[in-house]
Formats: sequence, C-alpha cells, structure tokens
Amino acid sequence: MIRFGPAGIPIQCAGSGTIDGVKCCASLGLMAMEMEFVQGVRMKDDSAREICKAAKDSSVSLSSHAPYFVNLCTSDPVKIANSKRHILESSRVTALAGGGITVFHPGFYQKLAPAEAFAKALSVLKEIESELKARNIKIRLGAETVGKKSAFGGLEENIRLSQELDMVEPVIDFAHLHARNDFRIRSQADYQAIFDKLESALGSYVNRFHCHFSEINYSDKGELNHYPLGTNNEPPFRPLMKTLAENGYSGTVICETPMLDMDATVMMKEYLAEMQKRKAE
Ligand SMILES: [Zn+2]
Repeated sequence: MIRFGPAGIPIQCAGSGTIDGVKCCASLGLMAMEMEFVQGVRMKDDSAREICKAAKDSSVSLSSHAPYFVNLCTSDPVKIANSKRHILESSRVTALAGGGITVFHPGFYQKLAPAEAFAKALSVLKEIESELKARNIKIRLGAETVGKKSAFGGLEENIRLSQELDMVEPVIDFAHLHARNDFRIRSQADYQAIFDKLESALGSYVNRFHCHFSEINYSDKGELNHYPLGTNNEPPFRPLMKTLAENGYSGTVICETPMLDMDATVMMKEYLAEMQKRKAE
C-alpha cells in the first residue's frame, strides 16, 4: 500500500494548524502528511500529543522535515552541535506526535573530499543515534538525496549511511536525483533501476520506503526550484506510479510540488488507476 500526502498543511485546508492539516488530509483521502520543521522546531510537547491522537483517529501517517540548517560534514563544533540539536529535537517531537521518520539534508562538502565528508557525517550520525537510543526515542532518520552538486547526500552515499547505521534510511527525492544528475529519470525502467538498487542494498526497505516527489527546474549545478505536475515532466510521475503498482511496493510519497495536496491527489488517483488495471487483468 502506498500513502500519499503533502509536504505541509494542505492548500485546501481552511485552518493553519497541524491538526487542521491532518483532518483535511483525511477528508481528501490522503493518508500521509509531512510536518515542516524546516525553519526550526517550534511544536510544543502538548500539541505534539494532541496531533498524535488526531493522526491516529484519522489514520494519517506523519513524518517530519528537520530544519534546513543542518550540516554534518563541517569541522565547526558549533555548527555540529546545532545540527545535532536540530535533528534530535525534530526526532523527539515527531516521535511524540506518533510520526515514523524525520527527514534531514545531510550537509555540504565545502572543502572536504567526498570520503572525508562521508566519515564526518557517519560519526555525527552515530552520536545522534546513541543519544536517541539512550532516550528511548523510536524513530527513523531519513537522509534525503540532495539536489545540489555542492551538497553531500547522493543516492550511493545515503545508501551507505543506511547500511552503516541502525536508524538511518535514505529518503528518495526523485526530483533531486534527476536535477543533480545522480540519476536522470525519463522512464519506468529508470525508476525500476532505482528501486532495484535500493532492494539489493537494503532489502525490505522497498516495503517501507519514504520519498519526495516534485517536478523540478535545474541548472548544471543542480536544483533550482520545484514545479507543479505537468510543467516539464522532469521527472515524469506516471511511470513512477506504474513502477509502484507493478511491484506492489509499500511506502509513502510526499508531494513537494507547489500544488501540495492537489498534486498528491493527482498522483494517488493515477496510482489507484494503475492498481485497478492490474486487478482487472
Ligand atoms: Zn528536503
């Protein structure tokens, strides 16, 4: 089963709170929502507990996006301490709200060689992981595939982080893979190649994957900005829906286009139509 949902409160939602967003998702048939902590975690513990109840009551599965100000590949101790705090705080509040995964952008190479950046990120994530375990916070940490060539966190790097760590899993941002030229995506075969790679490296991950989807505008340096579905078809969403239906994968697709819930619904309908076709055959 695939859950679809917006990155943030649905546009069609009358209210502006997370609980309003959860209820609105449920009424639209969207079974997931990502809470955007990108400018900082400001959610109070009491609200997180209420959100947890609302999400359970309406069967909406929650995730979160940690603040953008994370860089695990720096030697600046202050930046490392802040990055750890952002990820830990996002994780803690997300777990309290009943969410399953906190997504983060791993960092930037800056002057480091890729191998050095990897070693740095791995050691900081190990510290974050032991802190989460010590505090008994049950959550997955989602290392998002980044969209800029200057950023650390390509598909291979995030798969390796996941292999080395217990709580870390890759979050596949297809638009970023495409824009960074880690993986140009044009067809169903391209999507299949990505899922095959994930399955051979991480096994059952394909039955609990977490991904972001948008169409994207990019330059030779990588991502520029997100586009609504149907703008440039890069990457194309229909072959992804076919790949998901054909293989019976399970997971969550978070829509990051400017049309959020509207485009999440477009994808969901396409996916359900593909499933229906296969049932009829
Ligand atoms: Zn992101």
